[in-house]
This record gives sequence, C-alpha cells and structure tokens, in this order.
Amino acid sequence: MTFRTRFAPSPTGPLHLGHAYSALLAYDMAKAAGGEFLLRIEDIDQSRSRDAWERQIYEDLRWLGVTWPDPVMRQSDRHSHYAKVVSKLSAMGLTYACNCKRADIDAAAGAPQEGMPQFGPDGRIYPGTCRHRPMSDAGPNDVIRLNIKKAVDVVDLSTFNETGQRYSGIHALKADDLIETIGDVVLVRRNMAGSYHLSVVIDDADQGITHVVRGEDLFEATRIHVLLQTLLGFPVPIYHHHRLVRDAAGKRLAKRDDARAISKYRGDGASPADIRKMVRLHMART
Ligand code: GLU
Repeated sequence: MTFRTRFAPSPTGPLHLGHAYSALLAYDMAKAAGGEFLLRIEDIDQSRSRDAWERQIYEDLRWLGVTWPDPVMRQSDRHSHYAKVVSKLSAMGLTYACNCKRADIDAAAGAPQEGMPQFGPDGRIYPGTCRHRPMSDAGPNDVIRLNIKKAVDVVDLSTFNETGQRYSGIHALKADDLIETIGDVVLVRRNMAGSYHLSVVIDDADQGITHVVRGEDLFEATRIHVLLQTLLGFPVPIYHHHRLVRDAAGKRLAKRDDARAISKYRGDGASPADIRKMVRLHMART
C-alpha cells in the first residue's frame, strides 16, 4: 500500500510548536515510507477561519521545510460534497433535525447516572430529545444528528489499527460503547456545511489518505470517524496518534498561546533545526 498522509490545520490562529511537531512527523513518516504528504485547510468553520491565518500556515510550513503538492484541498470549496453525504445518511434513515440549545441539553440530561459518562468526544452525550423529529422538519436553525442506535444496527462494526505509541494496537468498535460514550453526534452544525467529524471523514476518503497522523487529543474521536467510514463504505485508514507538545507546566499548547507561535520563534532568529530540537524530532534521513 502506498503511504499517503496529510496535515489538516484549521486557519483559526497561528501554528504553534504542537502543529510543527504534527506536520513534521507526518512529513517525515511519508518521506521514510516513500509516500506522499498532503496539506488540507480545514476551514469548515467560516466564522473562525481567516485568510491571513491560512497564508501564515503556508509560510510557516515552507519555512519548516515541509512541501506538498498543489492544489491544496480547502473545506470551504467542498460544501456540496458534504451535503451529498448527509443526504445519503438521511436516505438511510439515520439522521434527524435537532434544535436543542446547549442549556436545553444540559437540563434534559438531568442528574448524572452512576457509572454513565456525561461527556464524550462530541461533547455532552445527547439525551435524545429531538430523536423523533423527521428530516423533512429540518429548518435553518437546526443541527443534523446521527441516530447512533440505528447506525450501529445497520453496519458490521469494524476495527481500526493504531500505530501511535500510547494506544498502539487493534481497536474494535462496540455498539454499546458507541451508544453510551458518544451518543448522537452532530453531522451538520448551525451555519456550517458539516461538522468536523463529517468533513474529516469525507476529505480523508476523497484524498485517499492511508495513514492519519495527528495528536492524541483526537484518539477518542476516532471511533466516530471509523463508524462513519463504515457506514459510508469508505476505507478505514491506519491511525497514528502522537504525543502532544506541552509547555513547561505540562499544559498542552493551544492556538491562543501566541508566545509559542512558529512565526514568533522565527522572528526571534530560531532555525527550523532549532524547532525540531524543541519538539524532540530528529531530522529525517531521506
Ligand atoms: N483540523 C484539526 C485541527 O486543527 C485536525 C483534524 C485531524 O487531523 O483530523 O485540530
């Protein structure tokens, strides 16, 4: 199998050391395997994405020595692809419209039941208030959710292969676990063409991604992605969730940590080799 991976940043702030590690690791792995590295701009959330951040991403990555083929896939160009997939899931009877506000969901969730998780990788586990609503009812203020109980009924749940150190191994999806620890995930958000989970799965399939290299914070969400891939008949890539780069206090870096922005280090005279040292990633031998 040829190795094809991607780096998929959202242009909602400056790239920091954690992004540099993720991009360089994916790039090095692709080179080492004689494969391909693609860049994808995840600007599905237009309210937070900015052209200036996108330009900065290109600049920072080029400076780090990362190269990718053109054209770059941008989610904002792909709304019709997402809509088509939502129609497909709807035609399978697996979706419904939901107009609950966060406060409604919190109230309906009620008192926590012992031993039952309240939050999963898609936020609070949805109590199902709108599950009876048909898609024909969907209006502009609704989100579209996946009925996870129905979804697990119509597929043979598959496994996925994880090669990252922390979670290394074969992971099997289990119906009860998906229902209890994830629930009815949002496929289409208000004022957006799709949710992160929906778009990432469609884009990885359309780009023929064989290996997904990304931070450990997304490991729990992978079950959602694999479920969607199975429902849609997409291949399941191999996943590699890498360690997160943390600050001196052990806190993971966030986009708002401007002090750790790549551009800041560059402005202060650091070299790309210095950045590799900072994130403890040795130069790939190509
Ligand atoms: N766009 C996501 C982020 O910036 C990355 C998603 C992924 O790699 O699957 O965190």
